[in-house]
Parts: sequence; structure tokens; C-alpha cells
Amino acid sequence: MNSNVRVRFAPSPTGYLHVGGARTALFNWLYARHTGGTFILRIEDTDKARNTAEATQAIYDGLKWLGLGWDEGPFKGGDCGPYFQSEREEIYLRYFNQLKDAGHLYEHGGAWRFRSPREMVALDDLVCGHIEFDLTNPETHPDITIRRPDGGWIFHFVNVVDDIEMGMTHVIRGEDHLSNTPKHIELYKALGAKPPQFAHIPLILNRDGSKMSKRDQGAAIGGYMELGYAPEAVVNYLCLLGWSPKDNREIIDIKEIIELFDLPKINHSNAAFDLDKCNWMNTQYLLHMSPERFFELSLPFIQKAGIPYGTEAALKPVLAIIQEKTKLLSEVPDRISFFFTEDYAFEEEAVEKALKVPGALEKLTILADRYEASEAWTAESVEATLKATAAEMGWKNKELIHPTRIAVSGRSVGPSLYHMMEVLGKERTVARLRKTAEKFA
Ligand code: GLU
Repeated sequence: MNSNVRVRFAPSPTGYLHVGGARTALFNWLYARHTGGTFILRIEDTDKARNTAEATQAIYDGLKWLGLGWDEGPFKGGDCGPYFQSEREEIYLRYFNQLKDAGHLYEHGGAWRFRSPREMVALDDLVCGHIEFDLTNPETHPDITIRRPDGGWIFHFVNVVDDIEMGMTHVIRGEDHLSNTPKHIELYKALGAKPPQFAHIPLILNRDGSKMSKRDQGAAIGGYMELGYAPEAVVNYLCLLGWSPKDNREIIDIKEIIELFDLPKINHSNAAFDLDKCNWMNTQYLLHMSPERFFELSLPFIQKAGIPYGTEAALKPVLAIIQEKTKLLSEVPDRISFFFTEDYAFEEEAVEKALKVPGALEKLTILADRYEASEAWTAESVEATLKATAAEMGWKNKELIHPTRIAVSGRSVGPSLYHMMEVLGKERTVARLRKTAEKFA
């Protein structure tokens, strides 16, 4: 345990939290949790024209949903605040003057530029290895602007100042920043500060090899929240974008990932984003999670849809029987709606096929009589009664099963028929069978 580790996620709130940003946050969080260090959230909102309050909110919401709680930052505070760059003007001025007084800056068209020492800059990146950058040629590596003519600060400068001021030990960020790093190292040196250790994590590519963009399907974390993925599944999937336990396992508990995760174990090669795989992983998580967890994750969707489920005690057994086939939590309200109203809709096609055939409605009435007379009411007893009735009457099981399913749910597909009837209870099942027989007579 190295409790000196300080890492940060430093998003610019200019769009939605996307998979790349979430993965960067996750790897920082994992490293902090692995080492017992501190995970900081810093909002890099110097670009006033492009920042939005919604984008900042999407960052908070996304990180919370993923379970990536920060130790210092907005709402949390900390010794190195404020954690919004827009509120750190005095600090930047101090560092700006330090650079200016030491002769590192010059004015150009109203903007301030940093005079590169024009040297080779060596980087020992924890993921990418040893790299030497040749910054001697001003044609290929022009001096960077650090302050705009309007007084606004440029990313390179404030990013470095904050990483110094906030005591970052490691900078873990996307490989798209690798080319910025030598310029940042020059700034650290000019400010007399020791650069942190860098770990540039691989780019995320689409399956066709193109760089994943914010517009690609599956890119926005908000989309996963809305569709109702299990956050633990998305986190697990994101962990595998550049990291793996090296033993072919894919479904791994986050506690174990925290234990196994380390920066030198991050892959150097690009990571391929595969939404199908993420979907598969999500179904695995939904299938195997505890009924309590499934309930907890489903409830907001059910409440939002206004399903009149009554009590939690009435809802839980219903959720228990639909959990198995649920692919997204946003499907849950529709999949359970018929349990909580006697006014459920009938699928037209299913009615044509299963109810409007000779004898179907009589079968329902006979089954209703049998059920009414039965003592026990479990999935097993309900099944046994149905099959015994079919056998006795000389019907095929399916000739009774199909109309029964449509009668009690209005639909041709759903959870296990016998469990469905068990949960509905004897009275409601019998009433639904009789009501259906009358309705389509
Ligand atoms: N605000 C920068 C970004 O969102 C931060 C880069 C960094 O992590 O240093 O890309």
C-alpha cells in the first residue's frame, strides 16, 4: 500500500461523458484503490465558450452511476481546491508571473507563449515505455501558447500547474495526450517541479479500426444509464479496454480487479470497442446478480414508468421470475406491466392464433374449473394440474399451454408460465382464464 499516490480525472465539460473518458476515470480510480491512494476529480473548465452545466452534471452522474467515487473534488472538497479551473485564477497568475520573471515567456500578438528550451525530452511512460521526443525544431514543434490575448488560459499550462499544485504523483490519461507530454515536461522543468509519472493508456478503436468518437453507438455513458445496463457490467467491460487479468477471464468482480490492476499491466496496443460483447456481459451480470440487486436496479425504471406495483412485497416475486430473460432494465416495466392491472392488452396475432381456434375458449373454462378446485398453488402444482387436465381430456399440452399463456398475460412470450401463474395467485389466474373465455366468445 502506497498511500502517497495521488491521481486525478480531469475532464473538460464540453460534451457528454463518453466511454474513453469513463475508462480514463476508471483506470485512475482503480490505481488509487489498488494503492490506497487518493482519487481526485478536477473540472478543466477554462474554455468558457464550450463548457456547459449539463456536461458537468453528466460527468458527476456518470461517475456516480459507475461507482467511481472521488476522494477530493466537487462536493467533497479537499486541501487542494478549488477543483474547478475557472476558480483558480490567482494560482495561475502566480505561476504565470514566475515563468515570466524567469524569462520563459514572450508576447506574440497579445498572447503569451512559452519559449521552448529546444532540447530532446525523454519520457519513461509506465505504459508506452521510454520515448525520446525531439523538440529542437521550431518548425515541427512551435512554441506553445499558454495565455490567450483575452487573458484566458490554455490547457497545457493550467493542466501542468494544477498537477503540481495538487501534488499528483501519476498522470494516467489517454494516448491522445502523449504528444502533449514533452511540452508539459518542459513546463515542469521551467517551473522547477518534478514531473509526475505518466501512464498513457491505449486508444479505443471501433471494430473497423477507426478511432472511437463521441458519436459512435455505445459512446455515451448516459446511454447505458438510460437503457438500463447494470453499472457493474459496464465497469467490468471498461476495465477490459486496455487491461486484462491475462488468464482469459472476462467476468471479474471489481474487488478482484482492484487487487490485480497495476499500471505496467496496461496493454500498449489499442483496445477494440465491441458493443456486442458489452451487451453479452450485461446479460450475464443481470442473470447472475442477486434478486435484491435486480430489484434495486429495476425500481427506478418501474417508478418512472408509473407501474402501479403496490408494495415492494408484491413487486419482488414478479421481478424474480423475469430477471432471467431481461437484457436491459429499461425493458422491465413493459415485461411486468400485466401483473399489476386486470386491464392488460392482448396481442392481436396471439389471440388469432391461440384463442380464435375451435375449442380454445372451452379449454380455458375447463382449466379454470380445475384450478378453482385445486388446493395447492405452486408452480409445480399448477403445472401438474394443467398436464393432468390435458391428459384426461385427450389434448396435447401445448393446446392448453398457449391459450393459457395468452389468457393470463395477453402475450405470447414472457416468463415461465407456471411461475407466472404461481405469482398471480389462484384467484387472479382463475379470473383471468374466465374473463378471457368470455371476452373472445
Ligand atoms: N482536460 C483534459 C482532457 O479532458 C485532461 C487531460 C489530462 O488528463 O491531462 O482531455
